[in-house]
Amino acid sequence: MATLFISDLHLHSSRPAVIAGFLAFLEQQRGQAEALYILGDLFETWIGDDHPEPVYQRVKQALAACCRAGTPVHLMHGNRDFMLGETFLAETGCTLLPDPTRIDLYGTATLLMHGDSLCTDDTEYQQVRRQVRDPAWQQQARALPVDQRLAMAAEARVLSAQSKQGKDETIMDVNPDEVRRVIESSRVDLLIHGHTHRPGTHTVKTAHGEATRIVLGDWYETGSVLVADRHGRRLEALPCR
Ligand code: MN
Repeated sequence: MATLFISDLHLHSSRPAVIAGFLAFLEQQRGQAEALYILGDLFETWIGDDHPEPVYQRVKQALAACCRAGTPVHLMHGNRDFMLGETFLAETGCTLLPDPTRIDLYGTATLLMHGDSLCTDDTEYQQVRRQVRDPAWQQQARALPVDQRLAMAAEARVLSAQSKQGKDETIMDVNPDEVRRVIESSRVDLLIHGHTHRPGTHTVKTAHGEATRIVLGDWYETGSVLVADRHGRRLEALPCR
């Protein structure tokens, strides 16, 4: 039995092939995989658990079926879906993991993160992150009518795309010192994260020796999945129908 890690699916009604690919993936893995970890940005936007998008209902049902079949789904907030809340968890049976979360992955001390907090060079982004992760800001946002929240999310998508255009690629990647600091302070041998959409496996030299950083890719052209079991780990690219 394998443990699966995915992130950055950015599910949205404008990309039905990715939603179909994810539903097929869940159907295939439910009851088969030992556990599924979704490390943030499952949804392109999430304005609250009363999100009216019809295709999201099908995703919720598929996640619930996966949990019922004996494959628990562990979810972490990303920078797009940080408003996923208690109602969503109750409806799907998923559990919410704090960012970061430390697990034992077949004997390897492993840290799971979304990855946006590692991009410390992007000070403009970190400022926005602090604002939207503030419980008081979230409480205020949740109290707004659905239409207003949908408009805010649409505006945030445009602003995010605009701000990325003028930025140097390296600013939007993880900061190597922050990666090292996080690995050293949590005393792990493996870090798994997403967010940067740059799938790959890296060696990180730390004060305690060498650690591995695995970056999960997105689900745009193909679906990036890290498959881990007793024998090892491999980063796969699934075709999205
Ligand atoms: Mn992200």
